[in-house]
Amino acid sequence: MHGQRRIMVTGGTGFLGSFLCERLLREGNDVLCVDNYYTGSRENVLHLLDDPRFEVLRHDITFPLYVEVDEIYNLACPASPVHYQFDPVQTVKTNVHGAINMLGLAKRTKAKIFQASTSEVYGDPTVHPQTEDYRGSVNPIGPRACYDEGKRCAETLFFDYHRQYGVEIRVARIFNTYGPRMQTNDGRVVSNFIVQALRGEPITIFGNGTQTRSFCYVDDLIDGFIRLMGAPTGVTGPINLGNPVEFQVRELAEMVIEMTGSKSGITFKPLPADDPIQRKPDISCATKELGWQPTVSLHEGLERTIAYFEWKLSGGGGTMLSANSLHQAYPNLLLPNAGRPVSEAIR
Ligand code: UDP
Repeated sequence: MHGQRRIMVTGGTGFLGSFLCERLLREGNDVLCVDNYYTGSRENVLHLLDDPRFEVLRHDITFPLYVEVDEIYNLACPASPVHYQFDPVQTVKTNVHGAINMLGLAKRTKAKIFQASTSEVYGDPTVHPQTEDYRGSVNPIGPRACYDEGKRCAETLFFDYHRQYGVEIRVARIFNTYGPRMQTNDGRVVSNFIVQALRGEPITIFGNGTQTRSFCYVDDLIDGFIRLMGAPTGVTGPINLGNPVEFQVRELAEMVIEMTGSKSGITFKPLPADDPIQRKPDISCATKELGWQPTVSLHEGLERTIAYFEWKLSGGGGTMLSANSLHQAYPNLLLPNAGRPVSEAIR
């Protein structure tokens, strides 16, 4: 890679952002990690703080930011329904004002800018699997709209800045992604099921569990980000990034119970309003334009994620699995505190 680019990652202490910062540092770049810690956590980047090329800035992107950068990855926004619905107005502001501020910064510095868009732009889709040219079926006044319409408006802004000002943009539509460093209270289905199974609590299936999702392991997704950002000028996206293998939510529950050896039962709860019934990416565009496709199966990704939550729930290195043994078993996990004294990592 080229090295020594100054790259800003908004939402850099979050689940995806922290893995991205790590990858960019490994490739020899300077990384400015920007976060307001709404759902991000300093713990996710503790292991990077000693790197002189890494800098963390507490900042909310709904306010302007004046820095000098060569590339911007705009990942900032709570992504779990429970979190983005907690303060819906702030979610819209993060997506819309945040995009305007970051695009303005890209325009001034002539930086290339990446937008973390979402499969939620397709709403509750009537086309299956979802292709990029499908325009979606979003309820503009429902509880998910703050996120869905916010992200749709951000896409609009990205393409308008591109057409009007020549800003170089990259728009990825991210499908359900999971892995280590999701918060135990993240609220999304993979982390919920694993945490419930490990605690011996009932697994909460919303609806009857026949709704589908396609789950992508975090390493695969980050690889897609890097490829999209590195794609030739003119490749703007939007481009779907996700794992095209589709599962019913109840199949996921069964897998998690079996893999954790849990005695948890299943309880059924009402399906939240506007919860999409089926979701699966068509990734032929990513395969053709980026040579990208996921490599980690759900089973393999769940193994790594379960190992992470075992470690996390045991106090971050206690009786079940120490950080170092977990790191040895899964060297690619890059745990927040791998190689550090546990006492230091969980302060
Ligand atoms: N879900 C569930 N139990 C949970 C959390 C989520 O059955 O404890 C369901 C949810 O209703 C949805 C699917 O799992 O149908 C994926 O939900 P998630 O919040 O992970 O992501 P999204 O709905 O944004 O795809």
